Amino acid sequence: MTTDPVCGMRVDDNSSQHQAQYGGQTYSFCSQQCKNEFEQNPEQYARSAA
Ligand SMILES: [Zn+2]
Repeated sequence: MTTDPVCGMRVDDNSSQHQAQYGGQTYSFCSQQCKNEFEQNPEQYARSAA
């Protein structure tokens, strides 16, 4: 399990169909909407997750 950096929801990173790579890391999201949000402002979310 990992955490969706946008909404904070727990996501199964093995089965998530919504993933994005940023800064050498793979992020998993609960929905396409959260993925879109992340991609619009990846720095903000990648920082808050780290
Ligand atoms: Zn989410």
